[in-house]
Amino acid sequence: MGKILIQKLLDQIRQYKADDTQIMEICGTHTQALAKHAISSLLPKEIKLLSGPGCPVCVTPETYIDNGIKLLFHKDVILTTFGDMVKVKGSNESLGEQQVKGKKAVIVYSPFDVIEIAQSNPDKLVVFLSVGFETTAPIIASMVKFLEENKITNIKFFTSLKLMPPILRKILKRQRNRLSGIICPGHVATVMGEEYFYFIFDEFNIPSVICGFDALDIISGIYLIMKMVNGEQVIEHNNIYKKWVYPQGNLRAKALLKEVFNTKRGLWRGIGYIEDSELTLNEKYQKYDAAVKFELTDIIQNTNSACDCSHILLGDKAPLDCELFGKICNPNNPKGPCMVSSEGTCAIYYKYRRR
Ligand code: SF4
Repeated sequence: MGKILIQKLLDQIRQYKADDTQIMEICGTHTQALAKHAISSLLPKEIKLLSGPGCPVCVTPETYIDNGIKLLFHKDVILTTFGDMVKVKGSNESLGEQQVKGKKAVIVYSPFDVIEIAQSNPDKLVVFLSVGFETTAPIIASMVKFLEENKITNIKFFTSLKLMPPILRKILKRQRNRLSGIICPGHVATVMGEEYFYFIFDEFNIPSVICGFDALDIISGIYLIMKMVNGEQVIEHNNIYKKWVYPQGNLRAKALLKEVFNTKRGLWRGIGYIEDSELTLNEKYQKYDAAVKFELTDIIQNTNSACDCSHILLGDKAPLDCELFGKICNPNNPKGPCMVSSEGTCAIYYKYRRR
């Protein structure tokens, strides 16, 4: 049934005028799904799919890794992180390169592993590198509340929790005349609600669709965008992931975010500062903030890197435009963050060689 529907949608899409159609997906999980199902090879070649800034590891700045490395040198600190952060380079080195020198970050698979480590090491301070978007932030907020309620005092969070709308606004301002439509992330919308992405239509008059992650969902989203671009439907914001995404999102998760965080100016790798694009623990919960405790500040160094990740994240370029792609940069020898994470555009292109 699904295959027949996909075929019908593809037939419809092929009937539309597609000159210079550029559609951006802004979620690493969508990038993976597009590549895995080889969706671009099923579409008319005039429809170009661009990947956006939705890989959290890719947008985490060098100075954050540098500060993480500094924490490795505190004798009373156990630094914990998800595995994909270990290979990402700071301005000089990665956490993994420090491991060779005997300074090791502990890899965790769930934030709740961090609590176990803290409880087994009461004389140590456990710092968790908390990197992600609106989907990760409620988990960190609920951990903070758990620590508060259970009077656990030996865990702190070093956060780099980014928000989608500010970076999307930046991209849409740059690419206003180039982008035909946006595929919005179903996970983020599940938390923040359908309304969170209304601004794409309200401020930029560009079609947008909140999609799920299987082939039928994504092709349905592309079909809707093509329908709007070709004037068969009025341009608007659409939600075709209604089984999970409600207009106002997950009210409990949003209340937690409001209770625990404030927004601040966020630093994005290769892109710079964007106002109100990052969550930070508010005054009430600042005692859990590793950046406050260890006075960690952004120190921006000119890394002079040949890596094109920042242009890829902004939709200016694709991985195949980078001279290093597949030659000296590959998942075993990543030269930039987009080749590190399984949600990084370069790593996904390398694995699936999407056209
Ligand atoms: Fe950066 Fe490597 Fe991607 Fe080039 S191929 S943009 S160096 S991660």
